[in-house]
Amino acid sequence: MRFDRIVVVDWSAAGRPVTGRDSIWIATWTATARGGDVRTANPPTRAAAAAYLQQMVTDALAAGERVLIGADFAFGYPAGFAQALAGRAEALAVWEWLAARIEDDAANRNNRFEVAAGINRALPGVGPFWFRPKALDLPDLPLRGSARRNHGLPDLRAVDVRAPGAQSVWKLGGAGAVGSQALTGLPVLWRLRAAHPGKVAVWPCEDWRAAPVVLAEVYPSLLRAEIAQIMPGNAGGRGRHGWPVRDAVQVRMLALALAGLGDGIAALLEAPNPAVALAEEGWILGVGAEAPLRDAARALGDAALPPPRPEMPEPAPARLTPPRLRNDCFAMPQGVDWVPVDDALARLRAALAPITDTETLRVAEAGGRVLVGDARARRSNPPHPNAAVDGYGFAHASLDGPGSYELPLLAGRAAAGQPFAEAVPPGAALRILTGAILPAGVDTVVLEEDCATDARRVAFDGPVKRGANTRRAGEDVLEGATALPSGRRLTPADLALLSALGVGQVQVVRRLRVGVLSTGDELLADPGAPAAAHQIFDANRPMLLEVVRRWGHAAVDLGHAPDDADAIAARLDHGAGAADVILTSGGASAGDEDHVSRLLRDRARLSSWRIALKPGRPLALALWPGAQGISVPVIGLPGNPVAALVCTLIFGRPALSFLSGAGWAVPQGFMVLAAFSKRKKPGRREYLRARLNDNGEAEVFASEGSGRISGLSWAEGLVELPDGAATIAPGDPVRYLPYAGFGIG
Ligand code: AMP
Ligand code: MG
Repeated sequence: MRFDRIVVVDWSAAGRPVTGRDSIWIATWTATARGGDVRTANPPTRAAAAAYLQQMVTDALAAGERVLIGADFAFGYPAGFAQALAGRAEALAVWEWLAARIEDDAANRNNRFEVAAGINRALPGVGPFWFRPKALDLPDLPLRGSARRNHGLPDLRAVDVRAPGAQSVWKLGGAGAVGSQALTGLPVLWRLRAAHPGKVAVWPCEDWRAAPVVLAEVYPSLLRAEIAQIMPGNAGGRGRHGWPVRDAVQVRMLALALAGLGDGIAALLEAPNPAVALAEEGWILGVGAEAPLRDAARALGDAALPPPRPEMPEPAPARLTPPRLRNDCFAMPQGVDWVPVDDALARLRAALAPITDTETLRVAEAGGRVLVGDARARRSNPPHPNAAVDGYGFAHASLDGPGSYELPLLAGRAAAGQPFAEAVPPGAALRILTGAILPAGVDTVVLEEDCATDARRVAFDGPVKRGANTRRAGEDVLEGATALPSGRRLTPADLALLSALGVGQVQVVRRLRVGVLSTGDELLADPGAPAAAHQIFDANRPMLLEVVRRWGHAAVDLGHAPDDADAIAARLDHGAGAADVILTSGGASAGDEDHVSRLLRDRARLSSWRIALKPGRPLALALWPGAQGISVPVIGLPGNPVAALVCTLIFGRPALSFLSGAGWAVPQGFMVLAAFSKRKKPGRREYLRARLNDNGEAEVFASEGSGRISGLSWAEGLVELPDGAATIAPGDPVRYLPYAGFGIG
C-alpha cells in the first residue's frame, strides 16, 4: 500500500489570523521520480487551510492519486459521547453534528465555546467540556475541570491513555489543551469528506482500504525524541539553522517518516485497536506501532528541517473561498422530526453570540441595561458605623452587669448629616438619631422608647448588648467587594445599590436592536384605515414591538412586506443594517405562500424546526448575511398572533436576553391548582392561555384556537403542560408562568 501524497496538518484553534508559532502548519509530501519532495504551508486561517486542503484533494483525485491526510486533533470523543450527543455511537455522527453548528469565519472568529456550552447544557450534570475565557458569560461551561460533575463520560479515550502526554479533549484551553482544535477541525474535515462523496474515508472508522483519500488522526509528539535529536532546545526554541518553527519541523518529520515507511505504512494502518476506536473514539495513527515509525524518523537525519532560508509558501490555491454558508446550522440530526422544546432551546443558545459593543452611562440612566464587568464598591455601605434607631448612645463599658442604669447626658446631639465632633467620655451618654455616625466613645445605642430622660440624664433597664442598635461600617457591602456581576441587567434596586456604593458610572452593553417585520399580502398596517374584505389588520407588529421595548431592547420597526421574496429580502437587508436580530411573523411554514421560509432557505442559513410545541410550530431560525460578513439572526415566528406571542416568550425572550449580554433568561413559573380539565396527547409541549382566579387556581381560556387574540388579551399568563401525555382534572397541580415572569405583565 502506498500513497502518492502524504499530508500532515498541525491544527490551531486561534481566534484571529496567525502565522508562525502555534498556527496552522501543513507539510505535503509528494512522490516524485527521484523519491519525494516535501513542502510546508502556513495558512493564516482555518478557512485558508480548508481551501488549501480542498484544492489539494481535488487536484489529487483529478490526477488519480492516493492521499493520506493526517491531522493532529482527536477524531473521536470518549466512549458514550457520540450516542449522548448525536444519537449514534459513531465518531462521524459527532463530526456531522459539529459541522452543522460550529461557525468559523474567514478571520477565525468562531463560536466553539458557545457550542461547547450548549452541549454541556444538553447533557446531564456539569461538563464534560470545560475552560472558557472569563469574560464569556457561559455558565454551562465551567472555568475549571474540577467544577465538573456527573456528566458520566471518561476524560480520556482508550488511545489517549496509550499516547504519552495526550490531553483530554474536554479541555478547551490552557496549557497544552487540544479540545478546541477538535471542535474547529472536525467540521473542516467533515466538509472535505462531504465535498468528495465516496472518495474520502476516515480511518479507522470507515473502510479506508479502497478509498483514494484517507483521513487519519496523527500525533507528532510520538516523534518527540527524534525531533529533539535534530532540534534541541525547548519547544519554542530555534533549531540549528536558526529559522525553523517547531511546528513546521514536526509536520515535516511526520510526513517524511510516514513516507519513508513505504509499504510499511500498512502495518500502522492495520495495527490492531479496540472496537470502541473503530466506532466511536478513533485512534492515533502509529500508536501501537511506534517502533517502525520512530525508526523511519531517525533515518531522516536533518532532512526534516526546513531549508536554511524560509521556504516559499505553497502556491496559494486558485481562490480563497470563505467557509460556505450552510443551510443547516440549526439542523436536527437525521431521522428526528420533532424537536423537543428543550432541545430547540439548547440549539438556539449554541447558535447565538452576544453583542459586545459597550458604552458608559451615569448610573441614574443605566436602568435596564446590561453591566459589562463586575461593579465594585468604591465605598463601604455604610461607610462608617452609625445608629440604627433614634435613642441614646454611650460606651458599653460604662454599664456594669444587669440592672437599671442612669447616665448623664452631654449637651448636643448626633444626627444624620450632623456629626457630633467630640468624643463621648466613658460613663456619659449622648442623644443620637438614626443614621448618625457614632461619635468617638460610643459603641452602643438604646432605643428612645426604652428610656426615661429629663434632658440632663437618661435612665434605662439592662441588660443591653454591646453594639445594640448600631450598624457596623461595611456590614452591608465592603469597599472593593463585587456589588453586581458582569452581565447583570440593572434593576431599580441595583441603581440604589450602586449609588450607595459610590459608583457614579457604569459600563454597559449598548442596547440590543431588535427588528420586527410582518409579512403577508392580507395585512394592512394601519388599524384606522378602511379595509377591503380580504384584508386584516396587522396585529403582530404592535404586539412584538411593545414586547421588545418592555424587555429593554431598542425596537426597530421594519414595517410590513407582502408575500414576495424580493420585497421581504429588501426588508431583511435593511433590517440587517438597522438591527442586531430580526423577528418576522407570518410565512414561516412550508405552504406555497411561505416566502419567508423559502427565502431564508435560499439566501440564509435556515433551519426550519418542527418544534414539538403547541401553539407554535413552525418556527424558523436563520442567519441573514449582512454587511461586512456579519450575519444577523432571524427568528421567523408563526403568523397566528397567539402562536407568535407564545414563541416569542418561550424562544425569543431567552434568545434576545442572551444576545443582549444578560445571559439566557429562564421564565419564572410556579405550581398552582388547576381550575379546568384537559386531556393531552404525548409529543408536544403545550401552552394554554391562563390566569389565576380569586382562589389562586389557574383557569384557561375557553377556546384553544390560535387565531383567538381575545384569549391572549384575557390571559395573564400561560399554563405549561409537559411534553408527555397528561390528564388534568380540577385540583391537579399545573405549572403557571405569569406574563409578569416573562417581563410583559
Ligand atoms: P402564516 O404564518 O403567514 O401562514 O399566517 C398564519 C395566520 O396568521 C394567517 O391566518 C394570517 O392571516 C395570520 N397572520 C399573519 N400575520 C399576521 C399579523 N401580523 N397580524 C395578524 N394576523 C396575522
Ligand atoms: Mg402569511
